[in-house]
Amino acid sequence: MTVSREIDDILQRGADGGRITPEEALLLYTEAPFHALGEAADAVRRRRYPDNIVTYLIDRNINYTNVCVTACKFCAFYRAPKHSEGWTHPTEEILRRCGEAVELGATQVMLQGGHHPDYGVEYYEELFSSVKQAYPQLVIHSIGPSEILHMAKVSGVSLDEAIARIKAAGLDSIAGAGAEMLPARPRRAIAPLKESGERWLEVMELAHRQGVESTATMMMGTGETHAERIEHLRMIRDVQDRTRGFRSFIPWTYQPENNHLKGRTQATTLEYLRLVAVARLFFETVPHLQASWLTTGKDVGQLSLHMGVDDLGSIMLEENVISSAGARHRSNLQELIGMIRSADRIPAQRDTLYNRLAVHHTPADDPTDERVVSHFSSIALPGGGAGRSLPLVDVN
Ligand code: SF4
Repeated sequence: MTVSREIDDILQRGADGGRITPEEALLLYTEAPFHALGEAADAVRRRRYPDNIVTYLIDRNINYTNVCVTACKFCAFYRAPKHSEGWTHPTEEILRRCGEAVELGATQVMLQGGHHPDYGVEYYEELFSSVKQAYPQLVIHSIGPSEILHMAKVSGVSLDEAIARIKAAGLDSIAGAGAEMLPARPRRAIAPLKESGERWLEVMELAHRQGVESTATMMMGTGETHAERIEHLRMIRDVQDRTRGFRSFIPWTYQPENNHLKGRTQATTLEYLRLVAVARLFFETVPHLQASWLTTGKDVGQLSLHMGVDDLGSIMLEENVISSAGARHRSNLQELIGMIRSADRIPAQRDTLYNRLAVHHTPADDPTDERVVSHFSSIALPGGGAGRSLPLVDVN
């Protein structure tokens, strides 16, 4: 069989919902014609979501501390313990930010922070239960396996106990954060003190078995090979085959500013779009695929809607971690909806579980709240921007 015939056969099988092997995924990633790859991935989206709806979310990423002992080389957010720019926010500050998010229609908060040397399970129990008590309507889609490993170690408890306790305290869903690159070689190169990729997946599997679902992410562009990118997908799919606990996959691109890697390598737009399409074909068991307009820019985010993506992610009322490494893209609710509609899709607001909260069939159905705008880099201010309100909330 010629390579071109082989690629056609794999694309057809993937488009029809059949399983493709990691070797076949690598062949598609490196050799498939771009438009044929996108067409096959979009065929999967159309089959899965024949109503042509592309979703978005309103949420706020709230950071409780930038103090971290793990010192990942790609991270511009953390400060080592005792560093003069290190900060932690009291619960009252976090609740104030949750209140602003609710005011702007957010349905989800993503609480994220560094691996603070003193923060064990007890800290997270207090944090999550306080948020749930004050704002029971907010879904807590937060932290990641790295934080769970860290808190279990600080408190001297098993992973199962840590997960059970933070779930009981209010954690609804685990963010896919910290996946970076899961294969050993690239992971050790960029995050030598972080847990292994296998360990990251083990925590996810334990959580899934306790009924706590999650997302999965991938950070592209820190010098990993094409084969290592596909291996990352394989490692996630193997767990998904056992648990079905990953709701979505979210690849994003490494941002080059203010970190030790200094942007020596970065993923190109084409590499990102090809990976998105291959992921759509490879993950026949993962329901959703999310674009990362914050890191790739809005144009590429919109283009990804033609490569199998069914979700444009969040407006992100606040984001500091990726922004501090150079992501400068901002948007507002009207623009995000416009990006979806001008890609010939029907926009709909969703919640964490992808339930559709409002479908905007025509512009007459669009929300009109002009205050829903993305903000970032409050950490550029002393104390992590403590006490500072979202400017557009202040207006009202
Ligand atoms: S990515 Fe997370 S774990 Fe790594 S240094 Fe930054 S805050 Fe710490």
